[in-house]
Amino acid sequence: MSFIAAALDGQIAKLAALADNPVIPYKDAVVYLTAIQTWFELYLMRRQIPMYSISFPPPELKDHLPKETFDKAQAYGRDKLYFAFARTLFDWGLSFGLIKSGTYAWAWDATARWMDALGLEQSRVITHSLMWITTLTLISAIPGFGWSYYSNFVLEEKHGFNKSTVKLWVMDTIKSTVLMAAIGLPFLAAFLKIIELAGKNFVPWLMLFMIVFQLTLQLVFPIFIQPLFNKFTPVAPGEVRDRVEKLATKLGFPLKHLYVIDGSKRSSHSNAYFYGLPWSKQIVLYDTLLDKSSPAEVEAVLAHELGHWHFSHPTWLMLIAQSHLFFTLVVFSIFIHNQTLFKAFGFDPLLAVSSPQGGPQPIVIGFILYQLLFEPLDTFVKFYMNSTTRKYEYQADEFAARLGLQKDLSSALIKLHVDNLSSPHNDSLYSMYHHSHPTLPERLRAMDEYKGSKWLSPKVENKELKKE
Ligand SMILES: [Zn+2]
Repeated sequence: MSFIAAALDGQIAKLAALADNPVIPYKDAVVYLTAIQTWFELYLMRRQIPMYSISFPPPELKDHLPKETFDKAQAYGRDKLYFAFARTLFDWGLSFGLIKSGTYAWAWDATARWMDALGLEQSRVITHSLMWITTLTLISAIPGFGWSYYSNFVLEEKHGFNKSTVKLWVMDTIKSTVLMAAIGLPFLAAFLKIIELAGKNFVPWLMLFMIVFQLTLQLVFPIFIQPLFNKFTPVAPGEVRDRVEKLATKLGFPLKHLYVIDGSKRSSHSNAYFYGLPWSKQIVLYDTLLDKSSPAEVEAVLAHELGHWHFSHPTWLMLIAQSHLFFTLVVFSIFIHNQTLFKAFGFDPLLAVSSPQGGPQPIVIGFILYQLLFEPLDTFVKFYMNSTTRKYEYQADEFAARLGLQKDLSSALIKLHVDNLSSPHNDSLYSMYHHSHPTLPERLRAMDEYKGSKWLSPKVENKELKKE
């Protein structure tokens, strides 16, 4: 093991030396990469726009989408796309402005002065880092509040989805901002402290910390955090409860509690999900789903969700995310002391190796600059992640179809699609980039194929047969 670590160390040192070359224009690279990414996203939207001018539904939906609903869905989709277009342009302008104006270095110096004014020692590098991050986050988040307000109270309102009030929205915004600070700042402090203590071998320690942190958050979120926003009520005895419990027993799903939440308090979009430990799970249904679907349809939606559980999809997604994280951290260790990168953004290059005011090197600067540089490349990761989740959706649909619930799942999906006014027509490339789920016509078509006993993979079939 230590042999591998030593070899890796050598490679990282070599790459780090290569990357710290004064001729590399890092700031321009960030500007251009961000521009390319933005251009690509706008180009995709440009491809999607004509889809909203098509005046008839796709063949799979023509019996289910009345003309009036179809027109509404088209209008909603078009408005949302224009909104996204404007926001993408705005965000690009903002990031361009922040980079060109030297805001990152300015905020570092400004927070140093504020520390002086507050009588805090300059050597308290982690405190300084947290103040810096908070300042930068606020600068970029404040316009976000405006966008969120417009989205809820103009766009969603216009199409009849908004059920929230301004008061509820303000409370939600305050609660989530406070929560983000309460969780994010200690997390960041620990993150930086671990790198500081572990030195150049920080990657495995940081991975361990991140995994423990994520697992804890997954456990804590539904129990302590989600109840701050929604009310959980056990589903009343009746047909829905009977069907769900029977399905869970049949599949060996360790169902502990079955809840309904008041999703309709904010929005009339509907959904269902499960969470919990491997041996004790909770299922949550949105009240909107219960209101609009028959008990058989709720069962079918749940069968789809339990398909995800059956194939361990959440675990696989987690593993993919961890590999991505590992890769990100290893590459970060190449850039952590890159003086050229620091200098390009107006920082004292000495900050890349030490702290001129005493105390340890401010690692956070390198991390944020590195993020700026590599974030545009996440476009590819997004393609990959979405293609994976789309594959999982097909498998979960197939799972439900195999349980004989295809008809109910189809009608439930159609209802959800109609109620959510999802876009009936989608440009394929736009869809590949943006959609974590296949579109409804794609899913219906695939389920029709399963009916002809052409299953996704023979492995799925065998695994299922053994169960029965
Ligand atoms: Zn799914």
